[in-house]
Amino acid sequence: MFVDSHCHLDKLDYQELHNGIQDVIAKAKAANVTELLSVGVTLDSFPNMLEMIEPYDNVYASCGVHPLDVDSDFALDTLNEYASHPRVVAIGETGLDYHYQPETAELQRLRFEQQVDLAVKLNKPLIIHTRNAREDTLDILRNGQAQRCGGVIHCFTEDLAFAEAAMELGFYISISGIVTFRQATELKQVVKALPLERLLIETDSPYLAPVPHRGKQNQPAYVVEVAAYIAQLKGCPLHEVGQKTSENFRNLFLR
Ligand SMILES: [Zn+2]
Ligand SMILES: [Zn+2]
Repeated sequence: MFVDSHCHLDKLDYQELHNGIQDVIAKAKAANVTELLSVGVTLDSFPNMLEMIEPYDNVYASCGVHPLDVDSDFALDTLNEYASHPRVVAIGETGLDYHYQPETAELQRLRFEQQVDLAVKLNKPLIIHTRNAREDTLDILRNGQAQRCGGVIHCFTEDLAFAEAAMELGFYISISGIVTFRQATELKQVVKALPLERLLIETDSPYLAPVPHRGKQNQPAYVVEVAAYIAQLKGCPLHEVGQKTSENFRNLFLR
């Protein structure tokens, strides 16, 4: 059994590739992927995403404003209202991305701090996106007491020291299809060194399809390829990676 801990179900191709969200969920189930978390990136897009996933008991949602979407509409009371919906299990994605948008760094930090405060207040875990902003990410998590709500560093691409600092705050580390890419040599070493007890797996669909699907649009069923790659790196059975990461998912998001 496998869980896709991070996908954007509202962004998949429903024209050519899938016959509605039920088709995506059925393809996942056929691959033994039994639970999905569909992650919000703006307040504007959240109601539609929630409406899409609500009929399916095995699909959860998060709400938040992505660091690359900080120019979208934002109101704390709206976020608070969305976050209080019973199917919403996390706040995010939020965080910092200085790689793609260094020019919005100040606003990114403000939005990140606001979302950390809300997550702590509501005691919902955080889904963190971070790129080229290690120090500021850790500072904001520490200053905001994020260890009280916990969370996950999603689509992890940082170094081992950053993973260890995040784990010290009680955070999980989520591995995406990037680990299967040939050039991701450092990430492979980091994944080898991290305990299975702290790992989640994700697709980040529709982005980052793992090998051997690279170049196609990603979908939750493909999370099994990420699990298989981790099993191979760690020299442990695939079912153990599936079981452990599913258990971690439940401990973090369905507590
Ligand atoms: Zn992200
Ligand atoms: Zn994402």
